[in-house]
Amino acid sequence: MGIGIPLPLSVPDRTLAGAVLTIDLGALRRNFRLLRDEAAGARCAAVLKADAYGLGADRVAPVLAQEGCETFFVAHVSEGIALRHVLGDKADIFVLNGLPPGAEGACAAAGLIPVLNSEPQLAAWRDAASALARTLPAALQVDSGMARMGMSPAEVERITADPGAFVGLDVRLVMSHLACADEPEKAANHAQLHSFLQLAASLPQAARSLANSSGIFLGSDFHFDLVRPGAALYGINPEPGRPNPMAPVVRLEAKVVQTRSVEAGEGIGYGHVARPERPLQLATISLGYADGWPRHAQAAAWYEGVRLPFIGRVSMDSIILDISSLPPGALAPGALVELIGPHQSVDEVAAVASTIGYEILTSLGPRFHRIYVDA
Ligand SMILES: *Cc1c(COP(=O)(O)O)cnc(C)c1O
Repeated sequence: MGIGIPLPLSVPDRTLAGAVLTIDLGALRRNFRLLRDEAAGARCAAVLKADAYGLGADRVAPVLAQEGCETFFVAHVSEGIALRHVLGDKADIFVLNGLPPGAEGACAAAGLIPVLNSEPQLAAWRDAASALARTLPAALQVDSGMARMGMSPAEVERITADPGAFVGLDVRLVMSHLACADEPEKAANHAQLHSFLQLAASLPQAARSLANSSGIFLGSDFHFDLVRPGAALYGINPEPGRPNPMAPVVRLEAKVVQTRSVEAGEGIGYGHVARPERPLQLATISLGYADGWPRHAQAAAWYEGVRLPFIGRVSMDSIILDISSLPPGALAPGALVELIGPHQSVDEVAAVASTIGYEILTSLGPRFHRIYVDA
């Protein structure tokens, strides 16, 4: 550039970044083992779509492979290609969204296994096998009652009546997905189980898979040959309303930019929506909605066990905290306060924002300094 300063690293340096995201790969290992044991008798795969729910598929995948995981799921062909580079030739990598038109060559070249969700996807993959003059591996998804992805009962009936339906294909997995697995009392779970059993019975003999994270906790009837957890690996509670059996994987801390005192009646932040009745001590931290913190997640930060509530609106790059309950001078610029961690879980942040932990994790932004620990 010729201006005499080095370019910032693409992953922000700890000194330059506004916030620090720590990812505990040891907790990830413990979560994988817990899920594998909970589904004993079935193989435990791992879902790494959306860059391993925002935590970094290139760091998560090798750790799970070390724990013995051999089967991985992503959403997109492009994610599968990137994961193939990380994992090498041996891992089975399934692509949940299947084949976008024209992606057959790239999918075959990377040795990915598309989850065929419709008759057109099945036909395209069969044509690719024929054009390449080789057998291609495939998974079949049936819609057991979610109306999102997978072949309907009518499509299943048509393809099972067609003797040429699977020519050139090695069907490795027959799967479906549960719509209500996190609500164990719902009758839909057993209805989907029943429908899946019926649909799978007419399809080629292959391993079967139904359960996501929450599905694992519905009991062994739901485990089949392979379970597909994502969220629970990353610490999200698979059994909402009950104590979380998973270890927390993510810790998010933001830096204090400055502190100040305000008088009673001063307007605080955009829109002056906060106007305190008494003087307060405030701290502004370097984290905002551009970092993936939801603008409506009016939560708190924590410092040495003390809760520091947000005050005023969440801004793009900053949030104001009420730090009046701390001793004067306790928080200096550069100090880190906890936003996600032992005092405030991902699920709690999600609840405050009327969303789910999945959306919180997958939104966490690229401006953070990321630290991977493996304790
Ligand atoms: C995302 C996804 C999973 C993993 O779900 P979690 O609830 O994160 O465990 C499993 N199967 C399918 C088809 C998915 O789309």
